[in-house]
Amino acid sequence: MNKRDYYEVLGVGRQASEDEIKKAYRKIAMQYHPDKNPNNPSAEEKFKEAAEAYDVLSNAQKRQQYDRFGHQGASMGSGGFQGGFSMEDIFSRFNDIFSNQQSSPFDGFFNRGGEGGRRKGSNLRIKLKLTLDEIANGVEKKIKLDRHVSCNTCKGTGAKNGTSLRTCNTCQGTGQVRKVMNTMLGQMVSASTCPTCNGEGKVIEERCDVCHGDGRTLAKEEISVRIPAGVADGMQLAMSGKGNVPPRGGVAGDLLIVIEEIPHEQLQRDGKNLIYELTISFPDAVLGAEVAIPTLEGAHTLKIEQGTQSGKIVRLRGKGLRDIEGYDRGDLLVHINIWTPQNLTKQERELIEQLRDIKSVTPKQERNSKSFFERMREFFQ
Ligand SMILES: [Zn+2]
Ligand SMILES: [Zn+2]
Repeated sequence: MNKRDYYEVLGVGRQASEDEIKKAYRKIAMQYHPDKNPNNPSAEEKFKEAAEAYDVLSNAQKRQQYDRFGHQGASMGSGGFQGGFSMEDIFSRFNDIFSNQQSSPFDGFFNRGGEGGRRKGSNLRIKLKLTLDEIANGVEKKIKLDRHVSCNTCKGTGAKNGTSLRTCNTCQGTGQVRKVMNTMLGQMVSASTCPTCNGEGKVIEERCDVCHGDGRTLAKEEISVRIPAGVADGMQLAMSGKGNVPPRGGVAGDLLIVIEEIPHEQLQRDGKNLIYELTISFPDAVLGAEVAIPTLEGAHTLKIEQGTQSGKIVRLRGKGLRDIEGYDRGDLLVHINIWTPQNLTKQERELIEQLRDIKSVTPKQERNSKSFFERMREFFQ
């Protein structure tokens, strides 16, 4: 809850470009790098904080979520940042970003633990349907999915037990094959990914029987996700490390959960507010009444004042949805409509005819200058 704003952490404006964000992060990461600040927990905190901010702001989708919904929008769940970023995560995650920067002072910085440049697997995306009640209170959901996980038999290497990887003969371990072509302009060299090793530079001597050299298997998993209260339709939550593992070792991608809101039968949602269209009878509007209103916490008795005009909006404070940051609660707005009867018996007709002649029933033509939409806007401000 008391997390710092990611833009503030990196010291950039909200309109900062990808490049500015990258530069800002690099600067902070250099400053607080553990190699430069041994046994300094506060530097480590800053280092982690910056990595988390960078992870979100460097990803267009996560950044958009963050801009709209704050910290909760950008991450969630046990695989997310709520448990914090470990040092190992940081080094493995951002390695590829920095290792490409030829002249960067970061070269080698993130290559801890030997296996530099660990590849990341693909993301999984699933839709999650939620009722308004579930959204109102937050909910724990179990999600069943098929995802690629590291093969247990070969420990993700793809090689049969005991056998090893050898350097690819086709590309001599470079992962690329070069072709010299004679063109009108002279000789040209083209480089392409080695077809034998798919650019990995290594081939397996004997393939694992279980995964046939892929290094992973498809597993049915059930993942438990805590959905915070106040999520909205179309919002995307990310659980890092719950996506697919790439072939032959690397970091798992993310599981992206796209929220789909099941419309409520009676209540309409508008952000954190709810709208209920109430239709009352003409006598109730004239004489006043008590009517039952649906809310997310069950029925609520609403008192209709005598002389209520059609189009009136009554605000029930705090009966809306919690916002995603959990600070605030919206309202339930009851829009009152008056029912006009259509099919009358002869006797009923006569009754209404009599009403027509009553002086008080004739509307005063003083125009209510504000339209429904103007009044709604006032409520939302
Ligand atoms: Zn295997
Ligand atoms: Zn090769």
